[in-house]
Amino acid sequence: MRVRFWGTRGSIATPGPGTNHFGGNTSCVELTTANGDLLIFDCGTGARQLASELMAHGKKAIHANILLGHTHWDHIQGFPFFTPAFIKGNSASIYGPEGSRGSLHDVLAGQMEYSYFPITLDQLPAAITYYDLTEGIHSIGGVRVAAQFLNHPAMTIGYRVEADGVAVVYLVDHEPFSDELWRAGAEPGRIESILHEGDRRHAQFMADADLVIHDAQYTPEEYASRKTWGHSTYDYVVQIAAAAGVQRVALTHHDPSHDDPFVADIERRARSLALERGMGLDVFCAYEGCELVLEPRSTLKPFVTAAPFQASVAQRHFHILAVDDQPDTLTMIVRALEQDQYAVSKATNGPEALRMIEERMPDLVVLDYKMTGMDGMTVMKTLRAKPETQHLPVLMLTGMTDEPSTRAGFEAGVTDYVTKPFSIPQLTARVRACLARAQPS
Ligand SMILES: [Zn+2]
Ligand SMILES: [Zn+2]
Repeated sequence: MRVRFWGTRGSIATPGPGTNHFGGNTSCVELTTANGDLLIFDCGTGARQLASELMAHGKKAIHANILLGHTHWDHIQGFPFFTPAFIKGNSASIYGPEGSRGSLHDVLAGQMEYSYFPITLDQLPAAITYYDLTEGIHSIGGVRVAAQFLNHPAMTIGYRVEADGVAVVYLVDHEPFSDELWRAGAEPGRIESILHEGDRRHAQFMADADLVIHDAQYTPEEYASRKTWGHSTYDYVVQIAAAAGVQRVALTHHDPSHDDPFVADIERRARSLALERGMGLDVFCAYEGCELVLEPRSTLKPFVTAAPFQASVAQRHFHILAVDDQPDTLTMIVRALEQDQYAVSKATNGPEALRMIEERMPDLVVLDYKMTGMDGMTVMKTLRAKPETQHLPVLMLTGMTDEPSTRAGFEAGVTDYVTKPFSIPQLTARVRACLARAQPS
């Protein structure tokens, strides 16, 4: 299997003398299998150069499988310049997460309206098909591809590709679920010791991979003031990848404000962290033009998941109960959820929430942790003690980011634990992920 990086920059293209080495084009990675399947992760501005290369040296009829993690600009802006799509006889299958606002086709068509671009999506001569993906195992080309949600302020999925006896995992853009990675008292460096269920799931998804391509936009110092923006730091990536037994990590989605010496310094710091912890992990910062050939391994373990197929969320209607004693927060949550077309009820305290759940079972409860009178944790425990609400999805909202509170939340059975301050798109993406994972009743 061959992997080539065509775009390694995050947020916005950043050309210029300061970014010559690591590159100024936004996210785009090409993966080719021994059978000749072409998979393209993201279509940032790097896709233009990849397109020229395919036109010059590719097959006569090009079939591209384009796997979009999400549809923020820096992941789709290169698509209107993907020249194979302008040739009749070529074809493309485009994949992206279900549950963004509008279908994948509509979102991509939006950036090609006449106000922005002279040719509309539907005028492209190549045969293009669109697939709104759910979490689970998919077959793309001749390749087994697992998809799993990431933590980003938009519906975003990570991809795990298993082919040619290797596993390559693409995890861009993603932010840690929790400030604390390890559970107190547990041995750090092991998947089982990861505190937040989301981070643990993230580690399991990359387990044993030959190559992980991961967002590492910020330094730990920068991250402190950029929480909820949806990006990772090298130290999170190195620690989680090492715990997952990953062989090699490519850090990518470099921040536009980071010039070459700055990114080189991140690489040095990441390597010394890996070395210092005795992790045996090969880590580097991806650069434009970087090409890797991955040799097959007989010991590759395929990724298995409890729910290999997920029912489509788009076809279902959901009722959500939002519970918060702060009127402003409650109004904000309700408004955001209603904009996403959910039926929303609200309660301002624990006893009221329990009464409402008894009267009409919601599909999900968004529950504040700290409330006067009965707190969220007591509501949670009451729900889990009853058979009819034992499995009711509960997303807990909390300002308590410390290890004991997070652990207590998961021990009480929360489905997800979102810390304040959160942003609206981050909350709605996490709500969507909870609902997608809940099986239809
Ligand atoms: Zn991005
Ligand atoms: Zn993004």
